[in-house]
Amino acid sequence: MKIDRIETFLVPPRWLFCRVETDEGVVGWGEPVVEGRAEIVRAAVDVLAEYLVGQDPLRIQDHWQVLTKGGFYRGGPVLSSAVAGLDQALWDIAGKTYGAPVHALLGGPVRDRVRVYAWVGGDEPAQLTEQIAAQVEAGFTAVKMNAAGATSPITTPAETASVVARVSAARDALGPGRDVAVDFHGRFTAASARRVLTELAALHPLFVEEPVLPEQGHLLPGLVTASSVPLATGERLYSRGDFLPVLAAGIAVAQPDLSHAGGISEVHRIASLAETYGAQLAPHCPLGPIALAASLQVAFATPNFLIQEQSRGIHYNKDADLLSYLVDPEPFRFVDGHARRGDAPGLGITVDETAVRAADRAGHSWRNPVWRHADGSFAEW
Ligand SMILES: [Mg+2]
Repeated sequence: MKIDRIETFLVPPRWLFCRVETDEGVVGWGEPVVEGRAEIVRAAVDVLAEYLVGQDPLRIQDHWQVLTKGGFYRGGPVLSSAVAGLDQALWDIAGKTYGAPVHALLGGPVRDRVRVYAWVGGDEPAQLTEQIAAQVEAGFTAVKMNAAGATSPITTPAETASVVARVSAARDALGPGRDVAVDFHGRFTAASARRVLTELAALHPLFVEEPVLPEQGHLLPGLVTASSVPLATGERLYSRGDFLPVLAAGIAVAQPDLSHAGGISEVHRIASLAETYGAQLAPHCPLGPIALAASLQVAFATPNFLIQEQSRGIHYNKDADLLSYLVDPEPFRFVDGHARRGDAPGLGITVDETAVRAADRAGHSWRNPVWRHADGSFAEW
């Protein structure tokens, strides 16, 4: 079997899909994207496709070596995301060829269902309570929320109090049997993070995500010891090499993104690396259906898996949602806050190719907002 053709599709709300077709008619799908930089990843996929076309799609590990290392320069979001999407598509082809779900090819399932969480926005505690009630009603046992908007370099008493008030409202709405995770989104300095983490500890968050920017990973050891709050990071890390120092720093939860960190192949290995540090896997996935399907396949085969992000109802999605490009939404019909294990081959979803081709004709040009502090200076989004 040989790879015949590789196509990419720029589809709303902010995604990029790839389709890998073989000479035997087996087709695999992947989601190679960096949010806000989709066109650049598309160009990277086109360049990598020059190598892949004509190759045997089942030599996934060898292709991963060549795609990540064969260009001399390596790593970073664009190249690692391009490889990630192609890697997902190759695993999809392998599963369809062998008639097995990807989790079976990764060593077989270690669980029957995968816990997922829902996003709640809610800038005001009252809104938050309403949104959490709706997610609890829908069966979710965990939610994630942003901690704050643009935040002063040293948080003011009012900013600190506002974060605590919102997380406290969430805790009250959820009760002690459900979880709230809090995303700092790299908006806090280490000094502010230390101050706020200490205040949040009594509210028992599941974890606090990106307490500082990824380039400040060297500051994580101090934050790990500053409070009892489990720390999470990884959506802006792209390989085992990137994860090694943050795991050694003592993070509790590793959050590689299946569409950024080298795909199924590398995230499976990052999970094993995390296991040696006693850390749990919670893949980042505010993305589309192919990235989520790939995430779930890894989750089913990973012993040290904690919880899965998913984008249904997320605030970014305006013109399309998680189910817009699927023939059958069943794989993402969550029951009691969990995705159930299926035995469909490959990634376990059927992409609606007609819908994808039509959406690509419209395309998108999604960019994240650029924020400013009150004095006009740049603020982290
Ligand atoms: Mg995040």
